[in-house]
Amino acid sequence: MAAEKKGLGYDDTPVLPGSVYKVHDGNRPQPRVVAPGTASTQQQAGRAPSDAVVLFDGVDGSGWEHKDGSALKWKIENGYMEVVPKTGNISSKKQFGDCQIHIEWAAPAEVSGSSQGRGNSGVFLMGLYEVQVLDCYDNPTYADGTTAALYGQYPPLVNACRKPGEWQAYDILWVGPKFNGDTLVCPAVITVLHNGVVVHHGAQLQGPTQHKRLAEYKPQPATGPLVLQDHGNPVRFRNIWYRPLTGYDAG
Ligand code: MG
Repeated sequence: MAAEKKGLGYDDTPVLPGSVYKVHDGNRPQPRVVAPGTASTQQQAGRAPSDAVVLFDGVDGSGWEHKDGSALKWKIENGYMEVVPKTGNISSKKQFGDCQIHIEWAAPAEVSGSSQGRGNSGVFLMGLYEVQVLDCYDNPTYADGTTAALYGQYPPLVNACRKPGEWQAYDILWVGPKFNGDTLVCPAVITVLHNGVVVHHGAQLQGPTQHKRLAEYKPQPATGPLVLQDHGNPVRFRNIWYRPLTGYDAG
């Protein structure tokens, strides 16, 4: 074995701080192999990476429920699910913590309403922290409530909206808040790409999303569901998956 590994790296180098491995260590485990997914088009959803947990594949809504535990009442057709207004928010049955999330959405092609009333929905990490979904293509509203805003806290760095009716994507890197007992040790940190454009880069959230109030942390579990909002508009979703983030193997 030693002979096989010889040539892959070095053993006369210093040990890396915080690690059992040396610089260029030939014995350091190889990264896991993951088959990357495929990109979506307007016509068709792409495929998730091979190690992703698929929350919605365009057909099966059994992984979702309403707040009271009842089965999904949103419409599923043509490879997407659509908010049925007044049925309420939906939660993934899966609960998870730090992760990479991919989700695609489309605001109604037929424009109606303005400001917060146009194509409003939301993606709530751990069921508590909203990345705003809204049709802000030529639709101004308050900045911290615009498309891809961390609602009530941070406007997106830019407005990367596509036209209503077109599919849009959020790619989110999520690190949940960390508590030691009742004490907040580290706030939630979030990075968001909207249609491939960075709109938040390591933003530190001030607490769970609030409306017209300041956010405030309270101790919470280390995992939670993904929640999608019924804000009264028939917004569509497709191709929803996540990959748990487990960090580096320091040995
Ligand atoms: Mg919303």
